[in-house]
Amino acid sequence: MVAPTKMKEALAHLAGTDPEIHGVLVREEARQSEGLELIASENFVSRAVLEAMGSVLTNKYAEGLPGKRYYGGCEHVDVAENLARDRAVELFGAEHANVQAHSGAQANMAAYFTLIEAGDRILGMDLSNGGHLTHGARVNFSGRLFEPVFYGVREDDGRIDYDEVRDIALRERPKLIVAGASAYTRIIDFEAFGRIAREIDAPLLVDMAHIAGLVASGHHPSPVPHADIVTTTTHKTLRGPRGGLILCTEEHAKAIDKAVFPFMQGGPLMHVIAAKAVAFREALSPDFPVYAGQVVANARALGARLVEHGFRLVSGGTDNHLLLVDLRGSHEELTGKDAEAALEAAGITVNKNTVPGEARSPFVTSGLRIGTPALTSRGMREPEMERIGDWMAEVLSSPADSERISRVREEVREMSTSFPLFPEALRV
Ligand SMILES: *Cc1c(COP(=O)(O)O)cnc(C)c1O
Repeated sequence: MVAPTKMKEALAHLAGTDPEIHGVLVREEARQSEGLELIASENFVSRAVLEAMGSVLTNKYAEGLPGKRYYGGCEHVDVAENLARDRAVELFGAEHANVQAHSGAQANMAAYFTLIEAGDRILGMDLSNGGHLTHGARVNFSGRLFEPVFYGVREDDGRIDYDEVRDIALRERPKLIVAGASAYTRIIDFEAFGRIAREIDAPLLVDMAHIAGLVASGHHPSPVPHADIVTTTTHKTLRGPRGGLILCTEEHAKAIDKAVFPFMQGGPLMHVIAAKAVAFREALSPDFPVYAGQVVANARALGARLVEHGFRLVSGGTDNHLLLVDLRGSHEELTGKDAEAALEAAGITVNKNTVPGEARSPFVTSGLRIGTPALTSRGMREPEMERIGDWMAEVLSSPADSERISRVREEVREMSTSFPLFPEALRV
């Protein structure tokens, strides 16, 4: 049962030429349509963003920058990239934007090599406390090419302790401080990070990948006035195509552009850059703050319902789009891994996550990370969040009861399909 979108018509040609891949696309659209997507880093783009992405711009090589390309025939893609840059600058009040980074990880790599040298010490948030792989994890380039030291969150309240960050910075004297997180439920005090960085005379890199949409809408304080460079993904709360974005002061503009190309990447993905421009325009519209406000309201409503059911939330609640459930507070024996699997069987997609003071491995964990950006894009509000909280409690109270899970799966499907993937009324 696939939602009646124009997608199927658009795929008619593919159906004839490559039925196997066509089948994947149709089944994935059905999965997205019939389930409840609560992965905090995911979202559903508008049809306009999809159209720009699935376009002839993918055919074009455009190494270099608008007006300064190494290839001919760039007069139209130049317009797209200039629009993307201008809109990003306007949206975030930055001095300069580079829209070519293929992903958030690439944006971070370019930022590192703009500000520091291989072998330099960096101070970032520990992965198991909510940081990101690219903030110094040993398995990532950032932990191999630089010398990472870490701060975390307080175990009792799950919050960053800025005095502790300052103590570590004064002791370790990193050449760069990295702020930003993938699993942190509270407002991050970028001003405090800026003060600490200035005190040790190090630059500040803020990676706002998860919260960029909330920053754009004013629902989270902006890092732009406090950081030398701000990086983000464009596909999370910002609701654009999969990709990266770098914002910086005029001082770093030339160096950032060179760090992306030719240092790190080859040709930019012009179809994705055009789709970024479309997404930034959507984010500049008056509808977007309404959407972002609802994302936060939905996270609060879902969190409150889970607490009513006896779940423990890291930090006790949320200021943003995500919740971290510490299963040790309510289901001592249940791992994040098993909870994720039981919910998946019921059509509710979340991801297992480590919690502060985690004793289990990152492949097992004692927590769940839950986010509301995607379902809010489908038009769901507080009443739906409350039903979802009830279903989660029901499934996790008996994760082996397959009959009960099948019943929940049917109820989930019924509610999901009544909220189309492309509720264009919500769009610009
Ligand atoms: C998602 C994320 C990234 C990486 O983005 P990719 O596009 O997957 O490379 C980097 N930093 C943070 C904080 C993130 O949440």
